Amino acid sequence: MDYKLVRGRRRSISLQITEEGLVVKAPNWMPKAVIDAFVEQKRDWIEQQLEKFASQMPEPGMVPLSDEQIKALAKQAKKVIPDRVAYYARLVGVTYGRISIRNQKTRWGSCSAQGNLNFNCILMRAPVEVLDSVIVHELCHRKHMNHSAAFYAEVRRVYPEYDKWHKWLKTYGKNLRYIKTN
Ligand SMILES: [Zn+2]
Repeated sequence: MDYKLVRGRRRSISLQITEEGLVVKAPNWMPKAVIDAFVEQKRDWIEQQLEKFASQMPEPGMVPLSDEQIKALAKQAKKVIPDRVAYYARLVGVTYGRISIRNQKTRWGSCSAQGNLNFNCILMRAPVEVLDSVIVHELCHRKHMNHSAAFYAEVRRVYPEYDKWHKWLKTYGKNLRYIKTN
């Protein structure tokens, strides 16, 4: 198995999947054969992680969304999201506070203790089912401020296809920040 070896003053081996592929960090003193054997032992896991990483990488010829494109998505989100939140809030049976549209790198949505909701404008590029699954997730936090079994039971009651679309977002979500050129 191919990998990039980075030696240093460390005590143990660490494996990392990056854009360069597998990166192995190993102690200065450790023989190459020992490192190779370690990597070989972890082959299944590494291949799984490489595949997962590849599915999250934008395809060649894709570039990040421009500020202008993001602004347009935010504008669209402000039109679309409040109505859908109102609709699902009735189904969940909860109230909520302010709705904000943001462009956070790491979150698709959030719900504060006060019931204020944040949604990522990039969601506008996903299938509407994905947007709805995020909205239902955040609204269900009005009942359960955690990710307990009871929380997910409520999410699935309101949105039976939740798992399917949540998985979609985990797999393809990163691509939503990129757009194909030409
Ligand atoms: Zn949550």
